[in-house]
Amino acid sequence: VIAHAHSQSAHLLHVLHAVQQHFHHIPDEAVAEVAVQLDLPFGQVDGVVDFYSFFHRSPRGRYDILFSSCTSCGDRNLMAKLCELLGVAPDQTRADGLVSIAETSCIGMCDHGAAMLVNGVPLAQIDAPIVTHIAKLVEAEAPLVTWPAEWFKVEDNVRKSGLLLGDDFAPGQGLRAMLARGADATLEEIVLSGLRGRGGAGFSTGTKWKLCREAQGEAHYVVCNADEGEPGTFKDRMLLRSHADRVFEGMTLCAFLIGAERGMLYLRGEYRHLLLHLQAVLARRRELSLLGENILGQPGFNFDIDIVVGAGAYICGEESALIESLEGKRGVPRVRPPFPVTHGYLGQPTVVNNVETFIAAASIALHCSPWFAAVGSGKSAGSKLLSISGDCAKPGIYEYPFGVSVRQILEDCGALDTQAVQVGGPSGSLIGASEFDRKLGFEDLSTGGSFMVFGAGRDMLSVIGNFAHFFAHESCGFCTPCRVGTTLLKNGVDKIAAGRGTQYDLDEMRRMAALVKRRSHCGLGQTAANPVLDGLQRFPQVFEKRLAQRDFVPFFDPDAALEQARQITRRDDAKAHLE
Ligand code: SF4
Repeated sequence: VIAHAHSQSAHLLHVLHAVQQHFHHIPDEAVAEVAVQLDLPFGQVDGVVDFYSFFHRSPRGRYDILFSSCTSCGDRNLMAKLCELLGVAPDQTRADGLVSIAETSCIGMCDHGAAMLVNGVPLAQIDAPIVTHIAKLVEAEAPLVTWPAEWFKVEDNVRKSGLLLGDDFAPGQGLRAMLARGADATLEEIVLSGLRGRGGAGFSTGTKWKLCREAQGEAHYVVCNADEGEPGTFKDRMLLRSHADRVFEGMTLCAFLIGAERGMLYLRGEYRHLLLHLQAVLARRRELSLLGENILGQPGFNFDIDIVVGAGAYICGEESALIESLEGKRGVPRVRPPFPVTHGYLGQPTVVNNVETFIAAASIALHCSPWFAAVGSGKSAGSKLLSISGDCAKPGIYEYPFGVSVRQILEDCGALDTQAVQVGGPSGSLIGASEFDRKLGFEDLSTGGSFMVFGAGRDMLSVIGNFAHFFAHESCGFCTPCRVGTTLLKNGVDKIAAGRGTQYDLDEMRRMAALVKRRSHCGLGQTAANPVLDGLQRFPQVFEKRLAQRDFVPFFDPDAALEQARQITRRDDAKAHLE
């Protein structure tokens, strides 16, 4: 198994996925053998298996079921019901090895109601009757191909197209336009378009590509970050399903402009079900001379793309952690600078951009910069794709010019009586009704694309608690402020929700949130406290109404807790008691 997988791809994650698929887990013997066959230190392989939540040391069921824990596509009641019907505890494998059921962070199906993955395949719109039916099929060991086909129906759900989704782009058009115009002029077009990275940080794409092109190195690399893991985000699912050609085209023209011969698309583990489709698109592009050697007959234009499937680590959406992961390591963010444009994959100059950015670049290469720059507002040129989910009538993908107001978006998606919107996912901004005239854009509400709507009936404390749990789970553990701070914040919200909190806890949470934000090593930690901070600032009433008392109340009675000590020391005088 190891030798076969290694012959297909040199990436450690690929080999470990193959081992796990074969054995339903990664046995210790396999860890040692992978290390030998890939000539890697045992500790590196062992550490990688431990780091990624989709790699398992003990056997998973032949039906390995993952429920989403996201506020949009998760439903804990359905998970509990299936566990009960199949007689298996959460995160356990049934003794006969038939089934395992666990929860994971968002699986990118937020526009499809409650959803789950069975052996990596998504099931949408599940409800109680479907769960009962699933339990029977699992008990009967019915192969997935015999399950009702409508359960597996995943729609693109594009509700509003704009500049990018409305562009009728044929494979090769962008590359031909680039070759006709020349590398320098095309790079200038990318700069002039004002395109900024669509992941949320918004660095100028043209500047990034220029810096990488100018950087010295033995080789240059292009990496597409398709690891969108922010709860509430699912636009890449649609883009990779229906616009993969343009993603690869954007990567290929980037390769020509910076002088790269190798690219990698890092696909989030939850989107493994798209792998065969993406590989088919790559194969077709090779046949059309849009990948490979002397692309489109241009001597020396050599470039090809590998797909590397992630393994359930949100932190790998951070570009330096993603590069570590590509190198077969734990996804721990690097110290920056140096930045990937000069020291990226294998220490060489590397461009990392996300799916939407490469799509925009391909279209700009075809239509030129004014086509793109004419749309948007201020320093936010072009359009933004949003994944809209939550309490609205029409969840799905919407494309808007930058500058659109939150109020307009809510109206379009059929959201009524909205009390809050989470713009940009848990790491973004949680805003209330008084701020619905704010606008999407790098100058105001920057977003990677998640737009979660919360109606008046939502318990906002449980929403904030869900986000706090997400960050505590996804912290990579490298630095103390984030590792410990996110857990303390999660515990704080849980304590308030349980009705045991006091004003002291709220003050502590504010202090802790500020510390996590200021002192964490990478972007995950620096934004992990946002839901709690925004919640305390904009929705203080949801915390305050759950407070047990206004003064500090400890979790336990300290004097009673000393009783055992008094007995051991045989001392029970007044000074052995707390006042
Ligand atoms: Fe890891 Fe969090 Fe520190 Fe980032 S901030 S390096 S995710 S522990």
